[in-house]
Amino acid sequence: MAYILAALLFILALAGLSKQETAKLGCTSGMAGMTIALLATFSCVDTPASFIFIILAMVVGAAIGLYVARRVAMTQMPELIACLHSFVGLAAVMVGFNSFFDMGVAVVPTVEVSIDATAEQIQNLVDVEKAKAAAAAAGAAVMSVAELNTHLAEIFLGVFIGAVTFTGSIVAYGKLNGTFKLAVFKSAPLQLPGGHWLNLLAIVASLVLMVWFMSADNPPLAPLVLMTLIAFLFGVHLVAAIGGADMPVVISMLNSYSGWAAAASGFMLDNDLLIVTGALVGSSGAILSYIMCKAMNRRFISVIAGGFGSAPVKTDDQEMGEYRELKAPEVAEMLKNSSSVIITPGYGMAVSQAQQAVASMTEKLRARGVEVRFGIHPVAGRLPGHMNVLLAEAKVPYDIVLEMDEINDDFENTDTVLVIGANDTVNPAALENPNSPIAGMPVLEVWKAHNVVIFKRSMNVGYAGVQNPLFFKENSYMCFGDAKKTVEEIVANI
Ligand code: NDP
Repeated sequence: MAYILAALLFILALAGLSKQETAKLGCTSGMAGMTIALLATFSCVDTPASFIFIILAMVVGAAIGLYVARRVAMTQMPELIACLHSFVGLAAVMVGFNSFFDMGVAVVPTVEVSIDATAEQIQNLVDVEKAKAAAAAAGAAVMSVAELNTHLAEIFLGVFIGAVTFTGSIVAYGKLNGTFKLAVFKSAPLQLPGGHWLNLLAIVASLVLMVWFMSADNPPLAPLVLMTLIAFLFGVHLVAAIGGADMPVVISMLNSYSGWAAAASGFMLDNDLLIVTGALVGSSGAILSYIMCKAMNRRFISVIAGGFGSAPVKTDDQEMGEYRELKAPEVAEMLKNSSSVIITPGYGMAVSQAQQAVASMTEKLRARGVEVRFGIHPVAGRLPGHMNVLLAEAKVPYDIVLEMDEINDDFENTDTVLVIGANDTVNPAALENPNSPIAGMPVLEVWKAHNVVIFKRSMNVGYAGVQNPLFFKENSYMCFGDAKKTVEEIVANI
C-alpha cells in the first residue's frame, strides 16, 4: 500500500513540475513520496545489523548531499545532475554483481501431475518438493529454469545499462565542467576512426557474452566482468563522441538511462517501487530528450551518432566586419525612448547572477509604460528551464516570460532587444549559414528588432564554439562588462 501511495505521489510530482505555478507542490509531492518509500523500506529490514548499516550509510550520504547541494552554484547544476546520474549507474552495477554473488539458486524441474498420474509421476513430484524444501532451508532461492534465465537476463542487462550510465555521466560531467585536460572531456566531439563500428562491436560483443553467461550450466563470472569492462568503455565513447552543442540532449538522455538502470535494479531486487520510479524517470527523460531534439531541430539518432558542434569554426573577427559599442548610460537612454523591449537571457545571466538586477530594470521600465517581455530559448543556459528558474526566483511575472515560438514573430515590431549573456541561442548563422555547426537549430531572431544590445564581457564565442555574426550587424551594439554590473548601472541611470 505504501509503495502504491509513493508511486502515485511520484506521478503527481512529475505532473506538478510541468507548470511553474504548481512546481513547488510537485517538489513537495516528490519528497513526501520518497519519505513514505524510505519508511516502508525500513519496515522490511529484518536484522539490527542491517538497520545500523543503513542508518550509517544514510547519515554519511545525506551529509555529503547536503554539503554539495548547498555549495553548488546554479550554473553548476547540470554538472551536479550528471554526477548524480553516475551514482545511479554505479549503484545498478553493484546491485547486479551483488545479485549474482548472492544468487545461491537451486534450479528445480517443473513437474506436472494430472488426476490419473502414475505412481512414478507422483514420486517425482514428491522428490522435487523435497529438493525445494531442502534448498529453501539452506537459504537458496528456488527457481524454475525459466525463472533463472529471466533473473540472469535482468542481472546482465542491469549491469550493462548501469555501466554505460556510470561512465557516460562521468564524461558528461567533465565536458560540462570544462576544466579537465583529457581529450574525452573536451567540448568538441572525440571522433575516433571507425567510431560507429566500435560502438557496434561493443554491442555485438556484449550480446555474445550474454549468450555465454546464460547458456552455461553454472552461470560464470567471466562474461559478466568482461561485459562490464566493455560497457564502461562504451559509455565513455558514446558521450565523448557528442559535441558541446548537443549537451542538452546528452543530459536528458543520461537522465533517461539512469531511470532504466534504476528500473533494472528494481527487477533484480524484486522491488516494485524501484521499477515504477525507474520507469517514470526513464520515460520522462526520453520525452525530454525528444523535446530537446525538436528544440534544436536534430534527429535523436544523429545526436547519438555524434559529431554535432564539432571543430569550432574559428572566424576572424576582422572578416565579420566592425562592431559598435554602447556604454550603460547610453543603453538606459535608448530604453527610456523605447515603447517595446524584449529581453533574451542566456548562460551569462546565470554566471553573473544578474536576474535580480534584470527584474528591477523590468519593473522600472514597466512603471514608465514601456512594454517589457522575455524571450526564452529552450536550450538557453545549461539545463532545461534554467532561465525560467532564475527569472521566477527574481519574481519576474510569469505572463511576460514567453517561449521562443510564442515571441519569435514579434521581434520585427520591437524597438529594443537586450541580449543578456546569450550567444548561441541568438546566432543568425544557424539560419543563414548552412555550413555552420549549429545550422538548422531554431534561434531567437533578435536581429529583426530596430536595435539590439548585447551584454557580454568580450567578443568570445558561446558554448558551441561558433562565432556570432549578430555582433556585427548594423543595428547591433555591444555593451561590454559583467552583466550584473552593467544592468545595475542601467537601473541607476533609468
Ligand atoms: P552561450 O553559452 O552560447 O553564451 C553565453 C555567453 O555569456 C558567452 O558568450 C559569454 O561571453 C557570456 N557571459 C559569460 N559570463 C558572463 C558574465 N559574467 N557577464 C556577461 N556575459 C557573460 O549561451 P546561450 O544561453 O545562448 O546558449 C546555451 C548553450 O549551451 C547552447 O549552445 C546550448 O546547446 C548549450 N547547452 C545547453 C544546455 C541546456 O540544457 N540548456 C545544457 C548544456 C549545454 P563572454 O565570455 O564574452 O562574457
